[in-house]
Amino acid sequence: MVIAGASFAGLLAAREAARLGASVLVIDAQAIGSGQTSACATTLGALQALGMAATVQQVHREMVVHFETSSGRRNDALTFRLSYPFATFDYGQLCRHLAADGMAVGVEFARARVTGYEAPQVVTDRGRVHGTCTIDAAGWRAPLASSVALTHVRPDHLSCGLEAEVPQPHRSPASGLHFWAGHGTVWPGYAWVFPAGAVTRLGVLAFPESGGHVSANGSSKKVSRGMASGASAGLRTALDRFMDGPGADFWSSDGVLPWRPSNTTPTTGRHLHGGFIPCSPRQPVVGDIVCVGDAAGHCFGLTAEGIRAAMAFAIRAGQLAGGVASGRWSASDARTMYWRFATMRRPYFILMNWLQKWLSSLGDTGIRLYSEAARPGPVFWLLMAQYRWAADPVPLLRHPA
Ligand SMILES: Cc1cc2nc3c(=O)[nH]c(=O)nc-3n(C[C@H](O)[C@H](O)[C@H](O)COP(=O)(O)OP(=O)(O)OC[C@H]3O[C@@H](n4cnc5c(N)ncnc54)[C@H](O)[C@@H]3O)c2cc1C
Repeated sequence: MVIAGASFAGLLAAREAARLGASVLVIDAQAIGSGQTSACATTLGALQALGMAATVQQVHREMVVHFETSSGRRNDALTFRLSYPFATFDYGQLCRHLAADGMAVGVEFARARVTGYEAPQVVTDRGRVHGTCTIDAAGWRAPLASSVALTHVRPDHLSCGLEAEVPQPHRSPASGLHFWAGHGTVWPGYAWVFPAGAVTRLGVLAFPESGGHVSANGSSKKVSRGMASGASAGLRTALDRFMDGPGADFWSSDGVLPWRPSNTTPTTGRHLHGGFIPCSPRQPVVGDIVCVGDAAGHCFGLTAEGIRAAMAFAIRAGQLAGGVASGRWSASDARTMYWRFATMRRPYFILMNWLQKWLSSLGDTGIRLYSEAARPGPVFWLLMAQYRWAADPVPLLRHPA
């Protein structure tokens, strides 16, 4: 089995398949755990089920939606009690633990850039390799699948996010996952603060509906969508404004006191990470290639949450590849079973993409009314239950394929 990409999707597919007896090679262009793009929040239950509770930085039982209107009105927020906890975790540690688990059952790793697929070989800048099962887990660019199907990646179905990881003010640490919505912040899109123990992650995200123009506090900036750097001029300005404005109380430059707006641009001299995020599902199987995680567009458009989906679909893909190794079914049957698994869940990803587009068309009052409608206990509980169902690694680990 050959897997392109050693992040959430690739590492889990490898671990599952190797546990079931497959011989697995994982190829990544970067050192394991060094390519964080994400704010790294997912369900606590998923991390525990994977045996990764040690990587948890902070547990969150509330979500707070702050409203930033075009008129600049602030301090208006709704708090939602989460019916299952989320957690922020350490990306580097999680990847290294998963890789160590994989190595313990025989997974091999190679450092190379995957450049395409010429059936039945994966082409890299260091040579070619052939597997019975091939998985594209190399993120939104999907270098294997997109070399076979040229329209696999749709540039008009990509959101774009940019984030800074900075100290939390230790005298006033925050809790909960905080979002900012409305025409006074990044719109269409949102901003967030995800506390993670000693640090906190502040980010901004633009939906494709921004058409490359990110509105931040009333101004409009062109976002370059040509490159995957994600550090576009418009988003960086939006992040600076957010860190200097609504997000200022949540972070600290010295780790002690909250940031006070000043003449210094908050992101100057800081490492930022981020990139493009698919917001609609793609084909889960392209020719001989099984796509998992962002490579398959398995990220929820509205929330840009993709880690759980990367994990869940990778677990199933790994289990099916393990079945090929043990002779339970053929590689072709495994691909059909994976296609069915993904197709059953596809409508939910389409719904989340549709909600993202619909929300993008609302004004400030509409955004507020939409949020209030979702807030009553039983409604929010129901929404959260179906939100987890579409991409939950826990039952897949309990009931393997
Ligand atoms: C700013 C931001 C914040 C986010 N926050 C969250 C969040 O809090 N919670 C959440 O659930 N989701 C979040 N997401 C989405 C989430 O990060 C993705 O859905 C998730 O990372 C997908 O995992 P993956 O394993 O499919 O791909 P990735 O994590 O993108 O990993 C792809 C891997 O493939 C490797 N690779 C890429 N190209 C090649 C190549 N050509 N050759 C070899 N290797 C290659 C990369 O080095 C990398 O290791 C966020 C995204 C962004 C941009």
